[in-house]
Amino acid sequence: MTDISAPYPPELMRDVARRRTFAIISHPDAGKTTLTEKLLLFGGAIQLAGTVKARKSARHATSDWMEVEKQRGISVTSSVMQFDYAGHTINLLDTPGHEDFSEDTYRVLTAVDAAVMVIDAAKGVEAQTIKLLDVCRLRDTPIITFINKLDREVREPFDLLAEIEDVLKIQCAPVTWPVGMGKAFRGVYHLLEDRVLRFTAGEEKRTEAEMIKGIANAQLDELFPMEIGQLREDVELIQGASNPFMLGEFLAGKQTPVFFGSGINNFGVQEILQALIDWAPPPQPRVAGTDTEATRMVQPAEEKFSGFVFKIQANMDPKHRDRIAFFRICSGRYQSGMKVKHVRAGREMKLANALTFMANERVLKDDGVAGDIIGIHNHGQLQIGDTLTEGEALGFKGIPYFSPELFRAARLRDPLKSKQLQKGLQELGEEGAIQVFELEGGNMLLGAVGVLQFEVVAQRLKDEYKVDAIFEPADIHTARWLTFPDEVTRRNFEREQVMRLGKDVDGNPVYLASTRYNLEVTMEKWPKVAFHATREHG
Ligand code: GDP
Repeated sequence: MTDISAPYPPELMRDVARRRTFAIISHPDAGKTTLTEKLLLFGGAIQLAGTVKARKSARHATSDWMEVEKQRGISVTSSVMQFDYAGHTINLLDTPGHEDFSEDTYRVLTAVDAAVMVIDAAKGVEAQTIKLLDVCRLRDTPIITFINKLDREVREPFDLLAEIEDVLKIQCAPVTWPVGMGKAFRGVYHLLEDRVLRFTAGEEKRTEAEMIKGIANAQLDELFPMEIGQLREDVELIQGASNPFMLGEFLAGKQTPVFFGSGINNFGVQEILQALIDWAPPPQPRVAGTDTEATRMVQPAEEKFSGFVFKIQANMDPKHRDRIAFFRICSGRYQSGMKVKHVRAGREMKLANALTFMANERVLKDDGVAGDIIGIHNHGQLQIGDTLTEGEALGFKGIPYFSPELFRAARLRDPLKSKQLQKGLQELGEEGAIQVFELEGGNMLLGAVGVLQFEVVAQRLKDEYKVDAIFEPADIHTARWLTFPDEVTRRNFEREQVMRLGKDVDGNPVYLASTRYNLEVTMEKWPKVAFHATREHG
């Protein structure tokens, strides 16, 4: 039975409305892992604090190619976790914090509808925060801000808000406000609900914080004689001078609601979850190209299934030795065993045994709607940016490749292994671990955003492809993807610039400039040729 008054299936609309899909962004050490853990704790996805951290180190201990990770003590890979909270299904996409893997992080951010930005209250806005926020801004992703570590001696809250506004160019709307800090951290005052939540340290298990209603409440004078005066002054100032929270501005990515707390003490975390449920958007419509070249908005509650691959990860579990394609559902419903169209390959494929990654283990999933992330076993058939649909030839937009800033030429120690090298680099390139360019004459050039990517690739070539490769510095400053106005221009350009041309893993032409000057001169000489610093997948 169809309800003609509703354009979309009501059950699908209901399920989509309950989804929240977000990522946590932060500079390393601001407290992302800790916050993730506490959120999972609230969601009942894990019972005890320490699980996520333990998992981090268990992964290190068991996986071999992640040896680099272990040595450097950083987290390279990212994962997806789903949990339920207050009648909602929440998808949390983890992002690697290290700047060398920002490309991967960028792509993860294309798959979310909101982000939580964690700021270390002692340090304020840091380099990686700025970069990540820039990426969020490309899609006007709504941002919730969590200012962390109030249990330490930190900077003045007004000072922090001013810095966020100045540096990140986003308006702050404080929602909670700290009462004291460091040893004298007493809790937070909720500006919209006029109540103080009392801080107690060391809450490993989820508990409700004690609540004191009303800022004028005499109980507050009794409990916090040293801090209450400052709080009342601050609040007066905020009410006079700062922006009130406005949902529309938040959803447009122009204003961020700000919360203060201490992740490690499990304090202020529940407010973040509540904000996600109350204010963060459900799965949003997405622009996709169609086979007629035109674009259309794909609505999340459309009956027909669609979505795209935003990440490919190898060897999640070393025992399985497989690769997983992370796929964001954009419309319709995933059902195990369904047949879908692989748009780029132009053929049908069966989708079964998709995975979600709940807390600790892999769980078979047989249902999913827009906003959910499913993991598809990949044997090379899927690439980043690939779209799967229930028949329509769609191509989702906006999953970027960035122009690499570092280049190395790959050379073999054993020349007989060139087939393996080729295969390994092709696969790692498709996966997005590194960018691979083929030069005139067949040599392979690697491009990365961060130098650690080369180490990971060298290690993986050794372990997975049994290839011992040396990466030598290459005399290249930057790469630009090329598009030509017509065939004649293309041929002329290629003839003249043959020494500076390469192809990416998908066969797209790339200009490899030796210096900034070289790039400028060539661009001036060929005004009709377009030089792109980023390229969209697919
Ligand atoms: P990530 O690199 O952003 O994932 O940060 P982590 O969650 O690993 O935290 C970095 C460090 O800060 C760890 O030593 C945490 O124990 C510590 N930390 C996290 N949250 C808090 C907090 O609220 N207060 C204090 N004092 N330390 C915290």
